[in-house]
Amino acid sequence: MITVLSGGTGTPKLIQGLRLQLQEEDLTIIGNIADDYSWYSIPVSPDIDTLLYLLSDWLDLEKFWGVKDDTNNCIGALRELNEDPWFNLGDRDLALCILRGDSLKNGHSPTEFTAMISKQLGIKAKILPPSNDSIQTWIKSSNRIIHFQEYWVKHRGKILVDEILFKGLETAKATEEVLNALEMAERIIIGPSNPITSIYPIIGIKEIGNYLKKNRHKVITVSPIIGTNPVSGPAAELMQSQGISVSPDGVASYYEPFCKNLVIDVADEALKHKLEQKYDLNIYSFPTLMTSLVTKEILASYLLSLPVD
Ligand code: GDP
Repeated sequence: MITVLSGGTGTPKLIQGLRLQLQEEDLTIIGNIADDYSWYSIPVSPDIDTLLYLLSDWLDLEKFWGVKDDTNNCIGALRELNEDPWFNLGDRDLALCILRGDSLKNGHSPTEFTAMISKQLGIKAKILPPSNDSIQTWIKSSNRIIHFQEYWVKHRGKILVDEILFKGLETAKATEEVLNALEMAERIIIGPSNPITSIYPIIGIKEIGNYLKKNRHKVITVSPIIGTNPVSGPAAELMQSQGISVSPDGVASYYEPFCKNLVIDVADEALKHKLEQKYDLNIYSFPTLMTSLVTKEILASYLLSLPVD
């Protein structure tokens, strides 16, 4: 049993590789929910949805979000009605989110909905939200506070980040299913995802963070930073805003309490010795840039081969 902590881009790429190396039934993925957004009162869960689409082969692999061959009739109609829907949601994507809204309204939890829709889509892996409570990332910029989606999608991340607020994180409870998946896992992989807005809203849940701290020997993290840059997305600005260096060193210091094993990119191999001296971590260097299915599978196979006892 392998449990993976995931955001919506870097780690799902790794999951494509893991799928080729494992029986899908043996894979549990805890997906970030702090990017969740209420779109015209319809609940969208972008990272969970990317995982659902990836594992059901519905994903638009070009954009790496949304449903392949989707249409945009709803967005088009909204525009005709003089709306400015800056958050894109295709028609088939919308259908799933309408079902989520209905299911939640009828008293089902996000965990139950994700399980029901996974079954419907023929997914054998388990996709779990970390909590059934709401956790949302908000960005404080100058004098305003905006939702993470507004920061990233509407403003393309081009505004100053003064502070990041994780609403609901302090009081959110981990689900039984998640604690069970951590307990049952032979190894836990924190994939190459944004440490601040994808992984922190998972490991910042007290019971999850505490479990990882006590069992860090079986946790392997893949650095999302190569050299002094993320491979994609706003990780650099967000890490800087938290005072974390955008480097494998910054990643090591950030994750040290939660994991014993850190895989840095082979391009940063020269740092291995220094990081091992500075931190209580086993540092491994390996090609982590996933540009093809082959590189994804090779990285997945490497992570499954690392010693974790
Ligand atoms: P989001 O939910 O769309 O923000 O996506 P994630 O949090 O899952 O992933 C974004 C992070 O993944 C960024 O910090 C990237 O640097 C990292 N990332 C994306 N692709 C790769 C890759 O091929 N290799 C590595 N090492 N990191 C990657």
